[in-house]
Amino acid sequence: MRKQIVAGNWKMNNDLVHTESLLSDLKKQTQTSNAEVMVAPTFTNLYHAFEALRTTNVVVVAQNMHFAENGAYTGEISASMLKSVGVETVILGHSERREYFNETDELLAKKVDAALTNDMRVIFCFGEELTDRKSRNEETIVKNQIKNALFHLNAVAFKNIVLAYEPVWAIGTGETASPEQAQDMHAFIRKTLANKYGNEVADSVSILYGGSVKPANAQEIFSKPDVDGGLIGGASLNAEDFYAIVNAF
Ligand code: PGA
Repeated sequence: MRKQIVAGNWKMNNDLVHTESLLSDLKKQTQTSNAEVMVAPTFTNLYHAFEALRTTNVVVVAQNMHFAENGAYTGEISASMLKSVGVETVILGHSERREYFNETDELLAKKVDAALTNDMRVIFCFGEELTDRKSRNEETIVKNQIKNALFHLNAVAFKNIVLAYEPVWAIGTGETASPEQAQDMHAFIRKTLANKYGNEVADSVSILYGGSVKPANAQEIFSKPDVDGGLIGGASLNAEDFYAIVNAF
């Protein structure tokens, strides 16, 4: 059925020297699960990572991109530039992009379109903040994030969309959503997709959980029926920890 995926988001960590050493550690690991494995280094190390991992099954992913094809956008990187260095998947909508770089649902809709137009796969992130959960608004927030950025797409486009539910209060905080909280939200997300696109699409989209996933909690979270893998921050910076999570299915 749908794919299990474990993706490591390295964020703004690892210069070239550290990237080389992490890549070489990754190559020493053994995979015992069937999950698709991905890593997302910084832009400056993407090509290097692509070359180093060419002979493995690890997919190199970008952490962000711009929606324009090229032109006067100082400091930005386009989909075709990513593709030219072997990158065919991009993370969009991470809460840190939303919070520190003012990325809105409207902007993200444009980025999603640009990625799909370029035949790229998108890992689309969203999730509520602590105040939303305290006020029991988490489902409304999540539904709107998905609706605003993705519901203009047709059903076929979802072949190239992976969803990543990342409650903001659980990212980098050591605080994890309980496996039940993750399952409840993932089931809600799938129902939201089913209402718009039907069960076949909803059942085919992988929904990852992100937020303080580590070797100690991955297995329980991944055992939930609607959790199809994880987007891993901190624990992806160590190859052994990361593969303990990759193998937690
Ligand atoms: P974390 O980050 O695993 O360090 O909480 C997850 C993410 O931001 O994708």
